[in-house]
Amino acid sequence: MHRIALWMLCSFSGLLLQNVTLRAAEPEPQPRPHIEIRGIYGGAPTHLLEQNRSLPELGVNAIFMGSGSLTAERIAQLKRQGAQVFAEFNTLHVAGYLKEHPDAAPIGVDGKVSPPPHGWQGICPTHPGYRKYRMEEFRRVLKEYEIDGIWLDYHHSHASWERAEPDMPDTCFCERCLKQYQQDTKTSLPEAPTAELSQLLLGEQKAKWTQWRCDVFTDWVREFHSIIEETRPKALLGTFHCPWTDTEFNGALKNKLAIDLKAQAQYIDVFSIMPYHARFNHPEDPAWISRQTAWLGKYLGIKGQPGERHKIWPIVQLSDWGEAVPVKQVQPVLDHGTRLPATGVMVFRWGSLHPQTDKVEAMIEYYRAIQP
Ligand SMILES: [Zn+2]
Repeated sequence: MHRIALWMLCSFSGLLLQNVTLRAAEPEPQPRPHIEIRGIYGGAPTHLLEQNRSLPELGVNAIFMGSGSLTAERIAQLKRQGAQVFAEFNTLHVAGYLKEHPDAAPIGVDGKVSPPPHGWQGICPTHPGYRKYRMEEFRRVLKEYEIDGIWLDYHHSHASWERAEPDMPDTCFCERCLKQYQQDTKTSLPEAPTAELSQLLLGEQKAKWTQWRCDVFTDWVREFHSIIEETRPKALLGTFHCPWTDTEFNGALKNKLAIDLKAQAQYIDVFSIMPYHARFNHPEDPAWISRQTAWLGKYLGIKGQPGERHKIWPIVQLSDWGEAVPVKQVQPVLDHGTRLPATGVMVFRWGSLHPQTDKVEAMIEYYRAIQP
């Protein structure tokens, strides 16, 4: 008995000592009044609330959840605790749609259906039925729920990029896309098999083709924005987007993913860049987060000052995905995630993070410390 008690005491003081050492290495976080959003992505911390810990006690003031898991009751409960509630909305990744509408599958350079890279199924961006389906669902979510904003997710072309080595096939060369490209850009393509036309579009006509694809995706954003204006004009329109700069991976942001951030900025209020440092091959370098955020601010002219229309609220990785995020990184990740021009932050992702209670407590400690 005594031995066990002594061992427990030693281990306990060892833990305390380790904790003291860890803390000494990092400066104590100070209030960061420029940070208006301290969020959790992927659901509400229900089990903590059930332990009678309120959201303000956790330092959390925003919850981001999938639009499919919204209920009026859940929203009301979170709002009673002073939190804002934001919905995540799947734009071009409802793979189930293809079952009954195989003509919405993205077509590759060879004229055949492009298989989903690492299982990430995209949809042809000019399929009128699919677009209508998503717009109606977007409208329904905004009409039905008292949300403070809605965030686009997977608003890019058929690709797998949330990893160290992306796989981004060139698409979509379906007849519909080729026809619309010719109409919109007043170009006429020769009579030739798709395999030849795709080479032309990725060769001689690459600049025009790339811009046209970007414009198609931007036009979706324009329509999403107009639906917000009609249904819930105070709600913010956000987007979860690829964290690369305009030159990384040979300009893939535009020429593979079809994301034209500057054009989308006409309609988007909040840019939630996704610098998952561990997942994206920077497991030892949380400073990568603030470098990417700083680049985005410069690129879009966002400084993080009060009254600016555009905001940057990064979503940062605390849960283990691909690479583990150790507890000692919680503070540096949140530190880099809350540096200007960022004016808000949220952590990815509650479903897999919440059982890792040491990291959750470190997050709470940080959020409480930076509250103004
Ligand atoms: Zn297409």
